[in-house]
Amino acid sequence: MAVELSQRLKSLPPYLFKEIDRKKEEVMARGIDIIDLGVGDPDIPTPKHIIDALKSAVDEPVNHRYPSYTGMKQFREAVSTWYRDRFEISLDPENEVVSLIGSKEGIAHLPLAFIDPGDIALVPTPAYPVYNIGTIFAGGISHFMPLVEENDFLPDLSSIPDDVAKKAKLMFINYPNNPTSAVATEEFFQDVVSFAKENDILVCHDAAYTEMAFDGYSPPSFLQVEGAKDIGIEFHSLSKTFNMTGWRIGFAVGNMKAIEALGAVKSNIDSGVFQAIQMAGIQALLGDKSCINEMQNIYQKRRDIMVDGLREAGIELRKPKATFYLWVKVPDGYTSTEITKLLLEKGVVVTPGNGFGEPGEGYIRMALTQDEERLKEAISRIKSISF
Ligand SMILES: *Cc1c(COP(=O)(O)O)cnc(C)c1O
Repeated sequence: MAVELSQRLKSLPPYLFKEIDRKKEEVMARGIDIIDLGVGDPDIPTPKHIIDALKSAVDEPVNHRYPSYTGMKQFREAVSTWYRDRFEISLDPENEVVSLIGSKEGIAHLPLAFIDPGDIALVPTPAYPVYNIGTIFAGGISHFMPLVEENDFLPDLSSIPDDVAKKAKLMFINYPNNPTSAVATEEFFQDVVSFAKENDILVCHDAAYTEMAFDGYSPPSFLQVEGAKDIGIEFHSLSKTFNMTGWRIGFAVGNMKAIEALGAVKSNIDSGVFQAIQMAGIQALLGDKSCINEMQNIYQKRRDIMVDGLREAGIELRKPKATFYLWVKVPDGYTSTEITKLLLEKGVVVTPGNGFGEPGEGYIRMALTQDEERLKEAISRIKSISF
């Protein structure tokens, strides 16, 4: 095939995991037992009451037809109710809520609504890659905001040059954060609102991990900050909260104009979320929430096993208050890639931090997506390495 690839595809950042993937295959071929802490995908099944809701919804022919582009009224109402109960935020289900085929879909499509070729989006790094890729696909330019430990993995807004701030149309933020597992303070969110108002920027807060928190901590919504809805939207997902990554359902809420614009893009690209899945989503949002507590307890125990074990092995890391990630400092004298390969030799798969962006160099990310026994086994393998 002699057709040239588009510039947008050719301009994608290099795939940094090639070497690691090759190494992983080689280790697996040698028959070494693999403990995969690489992927941010819950290992725990979707709660039964949600699955049951899907099963009965599938039997209803009315659910077999094209869904509404923006989501069933009932689903949007359920989102609004959940936001009220969880965050004390009021959202008009008519025009401040839109359903998404997973929040990744919405994040990737949002720049098409606001970014013209050459426009700037403010994008954290290290980060979930979709903020940058969505910007590139829309022809935009990412101005990267480094997330470094000295600043508690929050972007330093004062270091964004004035001309960049004035030109920027979007800002992506994500707390609790993937991959650093950092959480945001209310002051930070307030600063973001002021900054966005001053510079006419739409803030897109990715809140995928607000329900995955420990030690009684309850992460805030960005929209709780005064004025946030004037300049911001929030992406949410059922993927992590209810172990539903494969189901593909999420939503965006907040500023009416932005939600409408995202809906307009989507109505020209996709045809909404399968209604039976929306019915299951309603059950998740409005039904029994004890599954969230159970999930938090499971991850908290796993976190403690790993944090204690790694510290005993002489490895430094912060104990996260939220997310199922550990953002682990690489021992002195190694790069992220080197340590990842060393761990792979022992059958422990982790993600090198630089894969999420250059300031992630010097870290690896571990996902707490294995049971306690497997995590203990991972720790004993890590302890057998002399760094
Ligand atoms: C997992 C994750 C999501 C959720 O993606 P879905 O498409 O809803 O499954 C969104 N943002 C971040 C940062 C994530 O890690």
